[in-house]
Amino acid sequence: MICHPTLCPNTTCDTNVCQSNSAMFARAQRAIPGGVNSPVRAFKSVGGEPYFVARAQGPYVIDVEGRQLIDYVQSYGAIALGHAHPAIVEAITLAATDGTSYGAPTVREVLLAEAIRDRHPCCERVRLVNSGTEATMTALRLARGATGRSKVVKFAGNYHGHGDALLAQGGSGIAVLGLSGSAGVTNEMVAQTIVAPYNVVPKLDTDVACVFVEAVAANMGLVKPLPGFLNGLRAECDRVGALLIFDEVITGMRIGFGGAEARFGVTPDLACFGKIIGGGVPVGAFGGRADLMNYLAPIGPVYQAGTLSGNPLATAAGLVALNMLTPDVYDELARRARHLADGLNQALTNAGFSVMTPTVGPLVGLHFGTTAPIDYDTAKTTNEHFYATFFHELLAQGVAIAPGAYEVMFPGLSHTDAILDETLHAASRAAMAAAAKL
Ligand code: PLP
Repeated sequence: MICHPTLCPNTTCDTNVCQSNSAMFARAQRAIPGGVNSPVRAFKSVGGEPYFVARAQGPYVIDVEGRQLIDYVQSYGAIALGHAHPAIVEAITLAATDGTSYGAPTVREVLLAEAIRDRHPCCERVRLVNSGTEATMTALRLARGATGRSKVVKFAGNYHGHGDALLAQGGSGIAVLGLSGSAGVTNEMVAQTIVAPYNVVPKLDTDVACVFVEAVAANMGLVKPLPGFLNGLRAECDRVGALLIFDEVITGMRIGFGGAEARFGVTPDLACFGKIIGGGVPVGAFGGRADLMNYLAPIGPVYQAGTLSGNPLATAAGLVALNMLTPDVYDELARRARHLADGLNQALTNAGFSVMTPTVGPLVGLHFGTTAPIDYDTAKTTNEHFYATFFHELLAQGVAIAPGAYEVMFPGLSHTDAILDETLHAASRAAMAAAAKL
């Protein structure tokens, strides 16, 4: 018997293990630490066990038990057009036919760099890497190399991937796991990292190489920049000669055609990208002023390299995704996000919960509390227990949101009004069921 012919070629197996989420999780834990390859997937903060995805289509993921879920995780923002979009599948298939990696430059990587530059004018030059983490790690090295300074300022609750120097007080999985950073990150590695409260412009000195910021914070729930914050950062960086670095791994080309840079009219010196620009295939990028980017090898002394960087499959998928995300599409995505946010708010309020459901473009946050968070401390006032209870009831009703109270929802092009309405009916039932349990 072959249970999942595309997942497992074993014709003699009769265990049915791959058709049970629970059995697969047990098996996974014997092969992979915690059974997962990224911590938040393990359901630790909401309790229970993860579903194993067999395949996905449009707004849906289908688990190994055949259960179909309306999915708002969307690979934590890497997917914008919906799962297995035919244009993406075709682009990847065609690219793969011509070879999956060469170790030499290609046309598509130039096109993707240009596509990023066209949307984010701060990027006079762009370098492609393989993940958001790689982008932020290298941008930090570049900032230090270009300025000759060592200190980096970041904001509590902002997540910039898992590079040592930027991990302190990150949001996302760090928030729910209750880690201050990570074991294995020595004091020396973070000695030059200064953590400041979000939405307050810190006073800098001339030892600061750069300031990293999520221009819209999307790893402590969804927290908007207060008026004046980003402009204030720009002015303070200019005052002391520090570089301003926008981490646009989530926001870039998602909250609008030109990401946070265009939306708030503040130009950073460097910007980091990931997720959406690879159309669901591993990728990252960073870019900035030509004079800064020219510090990179092979022109300059700051070393950075990557065997698979600018990969043919990622660039093919990324180009399709970006080309389909025309300016008018963003207006429609924002409308859908507000529809989802308003409906969720109504469903939870009707069931007796106090919630905030902010949106920025297509991003939707869900905060169980009465006051809109402005920083990490206020974000952490969300009721994680309520979130976890609602999460499970929603899952039981066939809708998947992230298994962590500090993540955001990613409605995309596949979430039509009919899908959103189905979601909101499910949310009403889930909210009532959750309220009955508390
Ligand atoms: N920066 C931000 C704002 C992110 O949300 C993430 C990941 O969630 C990263 C950086 C790291 O990206 P990656 O997971 O691709 O390494």
